[in-house]
Formats: sequence, C-alpha cells, structure tokens
Amino acid sequence: MVVELISVGTELLLGNIVNTNAAYLAEQCANCGLSCFYQTVVGDNEERLQETVKAGLKRSDILILTGGLGPTDDDLTKEVVTKAMKKKLVEDEKAREMIQTYFDNRGMVITKNNWKQALVPEGAIVMYNNNGTAPGLIVESGEKCAILLPGPPNEMKPMFEEYVKDYLKKKNPEVIVSTTVKLCGIGESTVATMIQDMLDQQSNPTIAPYAKTGEVHLRVTAKAADEKSANKLIKPVVKQLKTRLAEYIYTTDENTTLENAIVDLLVANKLTVSTVESCTGGMIAARLINVPGVSDVFKMGHITYSNKAKKKILGVKKRTLEKHTAVSAEVAQEMVKGVEMVSKADVCVSVTGLAGPDGGTAKKPVGLVYIACSVKGNVTVQEYHFNGNRAKIRENATASALTLMRKCILEYMTETAFMK
Ligand code: ATP
Repeated sequence: MVVELISVGTELLLGNIVNTNAAYLAEQCANCGLSCFYQTVVGDNEERLQETVKAGLKRSDILILTGGLGPTDDDLTKEVVTKAMKKKLVEDEKAREMIQTYFDNRGMVITKNNWKQALVPEGAIVMYNNNGTAPGLIVESGEKCAILLPGPPNEMKPMFEEYVKDYLKKKNPEVIVSTTVKLCGIGESTVATMIQDMLDQQSNPTIAPYAKTGEVHLRVTAKAADEKSANKLIKPVVKQLKTRLAEYIYTTDENTTLENAIVDLLVANKLTVSTVESCTGGMIAARLINVPGVSDVFKMGHITYSNKAKKKILGVKKRTLEKHTAVSAEVAQEMVKGVEMVSKADVCVSVTGLAGPDGGTAKKPVGLVYIACSVKGNVTVQEYHFNGNRAKIRENATASALTLMRKCILEYMTETAFMK
C-alpha cells in the first residue's frame, strides 16, 4: 500500500521552519509497512494545494497532510481535500463542544473564525484534539483515503499515536523491519563493489548503503506479514554480508556506535587506553568517554597542541620535530610512545595533522594527518589525506583513529589467541 505525505505551509517553503513532521511521519509509515514514493511541501495556496491533492489521490492509496487546519483564511487543507474527494462539510457537534471547552478553560474569547474548525467532511472519522483546537480527520472515498493532521508537532504526534497508527495497521497489516550492518575502515564504493551482485538482486529484503563520517552503514530492510517473518528474511542476508565483509563490520546493533564497540573490546580483553591528540583536540577522548562504563579502561587523555607540550609532556625529541616537523609519522610515533610511557596504558593512540585552513604546503597539504596506535608496545603508524573544511578534517581524523584502534586491538587479539 502506498502512502504520500503532503506538508502544507508557506513557512516550510521559505525555510522558516524545518519539516520535522515529514521526517517523523515517513519513519512511522515505514514502520507500518507502507511504501512512500512522494513527499511534497506546498504553500498555503488553494490552486497549488488542489493540484497536489489531485495528483496524490491518483498515484497513492493514502495521503497524509499536515498543517493548514487552523481557523484563519489561509488554512485551506480541509476545504481542498473535501472538494477533491467530492464531499460536503458538516458541523461536528463534539468538535464544537471541545472548541468551546478549550477556550473556556483558558478564559479566552472565541472569535467567529474558530467555529470553522468544527466543520468536517461528511462521513469522516474525527480525531479530537486534546492539545489544540483543530480536530484531525480521516476522509475515505472508495479505495482512497486522506488523513489530515494539525501542523504543530505537539498536536500532530499524539494524534498520530492515538488514532492513525492503528488505522494504518488495520489497512495494511504488513510490517517493515530493518537491521543496520555498520562498517568502518572501508569506503562506500569498495563496499558496493564487494556486494554488487547482492545489490543487483535485492528485492525483499533491500540493502541500502549509507556513507557516514569514517563509516558505511548497510540497512537491510524486509517487508512481511509480521516481525518474525521479516527477521527470517533478513537473517540470511546479514549472514552473507558478514561472510564477505567480516573484518570491517563492528556491529549489527542499531544502538551500538564505533566507540561503544571499541570500549566493549577493551573491557572484554581487560585493556586500558590513553589518548594524545593534537589537531583533534580531545575529540577521540570525548567519543570514548561518551560510552558508559569507560572508566574501567580509560586512563588519560592529553591535548598536546604546541611543540613545547609535545616535548615536555611526551618527550618528543627536538631533533625529530626539526627534521620531520610536527605533522609527521615520526612525531606521531614518538607521541604515542610518550603517552604509553606516562600512562602505562595497554592501548594508546596519537594524532597529529593539519586541519587548516592555513598552514598547508605542497609537501604537507591541509588534510594531511598521521595517526599512531600502540597495543602493548607494538606501534602502527598510518598516513591519511582528508578533504573538506577544518571541522570535517577533524571529524574524519577522529573516526579514523577509532577505526585504527579497533584494527590494532583485533590484530593483537588474533596474535595472542594464536600464541595460546
Ligand atoms: P493551528 O491549528 O495551530 O493553526 P495548523 O494545522 O493550521 O495549526 P499550521 O498553521 O500550518 O498548522 O502550522 C502551525 C505551526 O505548526 C507552524 O507554525 C509550525 O510551528 C508547525 N508546523 C507546521 N507544519 C510543520 C511541519 N511540517 N514540520 C514541523 N512543524 C510544523
């Protein structure tokens, strides 16, 4: 069954307000197993709203409209939908009473135009509004249906929860279930190439790749009669993805972040961790410290931005800084060795790089970053070239440092398992 969202309001077109209603409704409709092929934003203009509603009724089974249900002349949604669905407006007694009570309770005088909100298309299901005055409406005509909801999210969401969800579930008993396979240390195009045949063949479940900063997420989505059947369809696809992309997958749990996965690895293997950062300025430590329970493993985090701090706190040699400059593999290595010595942590990570916008040269351009990671004294240093502005470079460096940490810890675990 196909649903279409129509957000009504000139404020939305002007960018004065963000269309959070559409984001909320799209997600809710997907959870109800409905396919959504069109979302439209249209201003408070009768002609254009009419065109949009007519087109929607032709190509979709269900229209959900938000906004334009209020008392003023530019609130046109109900009138336009009633006309398009060839109905008449009639007064709803309960809606009238509720408007009266709403104003009485607030000691406010009702203006004449408020009564407009008690008019409903004949035969419509009226959704009484406990948080405002405009009732919501479900208007049916043959196989088609239009659901009209108020614009303010604090009115729209409770109404959707209370009435619309059950109505949609009855109309469309299918469910949509998704599992997200999260990867790091690999680019989106490489992932797509490695699973191209799976992407070509997909129908139910579908596989949708999303690129995130330093990560790729694969959303596997199945449609079925119930959750159990949907999960049955998802399981073999996730298994196949795990076989192909195993080393890059850090979780298949929606709520687990990369830093969660790393802290879990550290805790499970009783490994302590320390960080030393230059251009990321504490972002790696902050992401790790966001994870509850990190206190069992996190020892210390330094920000050594100046050369003086690098020398004084970490023992980076003056000669190394002069010969190779602060942004170099050699300095990253001495930084990680320095923090390892100071903190005695099992896993240490260091970052030094050029976040820009100034300071780049042909040899050392903006975006050049070195990251070093040591696990029990074994150091790995990597060179990276990131694009984008200062913030993007710092975010990418942070994500890459976490990815390198994960890789080094996993390698250490494999080696120690092999030696046992
Ligand atoms: P009211 O009964 O308050 O007049 P309404 O149904 O006529 O409501 P609008 O007048 O279109 O709705 O919008 C009222 C307010 O609701 C907007 O000023 C805005 O704050 C919020 N709103 C409307 N549409 C959206 C949307 N799509 N996403 C987020 N907020 C919205």
